[in-house]
Parts: sequence; C-alpha cells; structure tokens
Amino acid sequence: MDFKADAQRMEKIVSLCKRRGFIFQSSEIYGGLSGCWDYGPLGVELKRNLKNYWWHVIVHERDDVVGMDGSILMNRAVWKASGHEDTFTDPMVDCRSCKARLRTDQVIEKKGGRQCPNCGGRDLTEPRPFNLMFKTYVGATEDESSLTYLRPETAQAIFVQFKNILEVSRKKLPFGIAQIGKAFRNEINPRNFTFRSREFEQMELEYFCRAGEGMRLLDYWLWERLKFYENIGISREKLHARKVPDEERAFYSKGTYDIEYDFPFGRQELEGVAYRTDYDLSQHQNASGKSLEYFDEETKQRFVPHVVEPSAGVDRTVLALICEAYSEDEAPDEKGKMEMRIVLRFHPRIAPIKCAVFPLLKNKEPLVTKAKEIVALLRPHMYVFYDETGAIGRRYRRQDEIGTPFGVTVDFETLGEKDAALRDTVTLRERDSMKQERVLVKDLPGILVSRIS
Ligand code: ATP
Repeated sequence: MDFKADAQRMEKIVSLCKRRGFIFQSSEIYGGLSGCWDYGPLGVELKRNLKNYWWHVIVHERDDVVGMDGSILMNRAVWKASGHEDTFTDPMVDCRSCKARLRTDQVIEKKGGRQCPNCGGRDLTEPRPFNLMFKTYVGATEDESSLTYLRPETAQAIFVQFKNILEVSRKKLPFGIAQIGKAFRNEINPRNFTFRSREFEQMELEYFCRAGEGMRLLDYWLWERLKFYENIGISREKLHARKVPDEERAFYSKGTYDIEYDFPFGRQELEGVAYRTDYDLSQHQNASGKSLEYFDEETKQRFVPHVVEPSAGVDRTVLALICEAYSEDEAPDEKGKMEMRIVLRFHPRIAPIKCAVFPLLKNKEPLVTKAKEIVALLRPHMYVFYDETGAIGRRYRRQDEIGTPFGVTVDFETLGEKDAALRDTVTLRERDSMKQERVLVKDLPGILVSRIS
C-alpha cells in the first residue's frame, strides 16, 4: 500500500467533493461542526439514487419485505430495554495537559506508562465510559423525567413496531421490515471525511425468521448484500467479508460479518450483517410487558422470532462510491493535445446526472431549440442537464468530473444541413470510453433508459 499516494488521492477526492458540490462541511461559514456534513446539489442526487436503489432491491423487488419510517425520538424506555443506555459506550481517557479526549485504544502504551498521542503528556485520567447517544429533553421541563436520546440506530423502531406491522402486513415468517433514516452518535473522533460522522443515515433490514433458519439466512444476506455493492459499481476485489470472531461479537449474536471496503485510508466497515437471535424482541417484550410473539398457524406454536440484520451506512457507501469512481486519465483538449482528465466512473444507475445535452454553439438558435426539445424528451425518464456555455470539450470535461455517463451533442448534422440522411440524429458520447455514436433523437430515451437501469 502506498500511503502517500492514498493520502493524496483522498485529498483530491475531498477537494473535488467541495468544488463540484457533492459534500460541504456543515455550518462552514461559522467554522463548521465536527462530524457533520451537508450534501450539495450533486451529493444529494447520488445519495438519493443509492437509497432508492436499496429500497427497490430490498422492498419493491421482494414479496417478503415491507418498509416503515419511524420517528427519531422515541420513549427512553426503548433505549433502556435495548441496552443502549447502559452499554452503548466507548471507554474514554482525558489528557489533563492538552485536554484531548481520547478513546482508550488511541493511548500510546509505553514502558514508562501511558502517553497522550496528541501532546505526548503522561497525565491521563483512568478510562471511563462515554455514552455515544445524544441526550435531549422532550417538552418544557429539562429533567430526568423528560430525558431521551436521538436514536443511535434506526433498528429499534422496527423492533418496537414488530407486532403492528405483522398484523397489518399479514406476512408469514421469514419476512423483513426495512427502514432508511438518520442516526446520531456522539463519536469521540469523527474522522476520514464522512466515514465516521456524528449524524449519518442507515439503511437497515430486520429479517425475522425461525430459530433454526438464522445461520443459513445470515449467509444468504451476506451474499445478497455483496451482490448489491457490485450492482452499484463497487469492485468485488475491494470488498471483503470479515467473519467477526467470537470475542468481538455481541454476546447475543450467533454470527456476524462485517462487509469492508478498501478506502484510500484503509480497509473499513461499510455494513454489518448480524444474526441477533431473539435478543431484541425478547428484551422489548420483557420490558414492555407486551407480547411480541408470532403465532405459527401450521404448528399452532407461539414464539419470539429470531432476526438477521443487514445494517448499512448511507454516507459510508456514498464515500465508497466516490472513492471507487475517482480516476484520472488523459483526453484530448480542443487542439487535440492530450491533457489530464478527472473522471468519476459512477455506475450509470447511481450517477447524479444521467445525461448532459449540449447544442454545439449557443448563438445558433435552431441548435439551441433542438437541444432544449431533447431535454424535454428525456426529462420524464431521467435527470438531465443542459449546458451551452464554453467549448464542447470543456463541457464534456465538466460532466466527466461529476460522473455523468452520457453526453448528447446537437450539431449542424442534426438539423440536416450537411446530409439529409442525418437529420434528427445526434452524437451520443459515453463517458468512460469517450466513444461517440450517431443515434436517432427518437431512439434516445429507449437507448439511455436501457443503459442506465
Ligand atoms: P464502527 O465500528 O465503524 O463504529 P459499528 O460497528 O458501530 O461501526 P453498526 O452499529 O453496526 O456500526 O452500524 C451499522 C452501519 O452504520 C455501519 O456499518 C456503518 O456503515 C454505519 N455507521 C455506524 N456508525 C457510523 C458513523 N459514525 N458514521 C457513519 N456511518 C456509521
């Protein structure tokens, strides 16, 4: 691994994200807020395409999964029962010299004792637990009785609504409930751009099953999820399924995989796929006193279902998509001289803009009119972008840099001025190969839709 090259690559990615409007620092004009990020015009499209595709694959394409959208604030009792109030902690050490707050595993262990990695100081507190949940108060009074937390994961809403959803959906085991939403963790060290944030989004599926099916479904979901990442353009060689060893696994889990990706800053978790047994539903059943059992009509048995949970991070996946897509190659400039080209090689399925439409010249009214007609023709099918400013090569380059997979140019041949046979045809250019083909305008929607989906 070339650490210097990887660090440089990451710097270029962060700067491109800001320059082209993918990701900005939150509250930037006030100096930012650590661990929080805003998605700009292109970032929001990328994120939305990812979430929509996940929803499509996990909910719409299946008979056995339904969706929900739970509230971020929940009764505090939920977090007591789930174990988060007592155990969702990282052990922390404070450096009394530089006031840095450090995770215990960041402290340097030396022969003479422990040392602060920040200032080298040795005056450190003993480790103490630091709860990662953000506290808040519901209602006018700010005391223990009104305390709750911003949810640190979306899953708990699914568990506490299990019975309602079972009744309304009339699903039989195995079946799942899916949800996409914000989660908040007061991470001690937000870092690596958006990778470890304090506010982020999760895409979670709780797939309920019988006890005997858990291990098989764990493997099933691992493979489904790996396939998903490949289908959004993440290369298989950079994806890794790590079997979490017994000593690292939550005590209630019978098996867990981390799906990891080779980011420029190292191999890191994108998603966890865990067989959580009947722990979550049992905890809520015991704490609430309400039955969360399933009645099996065939065997006439009642039992608390087990669950397999694929839990993915939206922001981490967006970051992986950008890291995977970023590349530099060479393309000819206006005079045919080769120049460096930055290109985001997004899979067309998730690219923010699917097709850019250019009139060859902006001051030739018939070209502009035709180009705008093509925009109107494509708009019902996909997100298109119209651009008439600057030389055509520059316009291509701007689209390459934001990962637009297709470009359509309206030229004099489109108007039938040179060759009547070419009337109502345009050049269709493909981003990665830069190959151009001549296609009929009326065929464009069909061609593009088939290449995008
Ligand atoms: P990590 O070990 O990296 O802190 P985790 O094991 O605590 O992650 P889970 O609780 O399994 O994470 O959450 C499921 C998914 O949610 C993670 O795989 C990740 O994609 C996402 N996620 C968790 N914490 C963060 C965070 N601080 N910032 C961005 N995404 C996160």
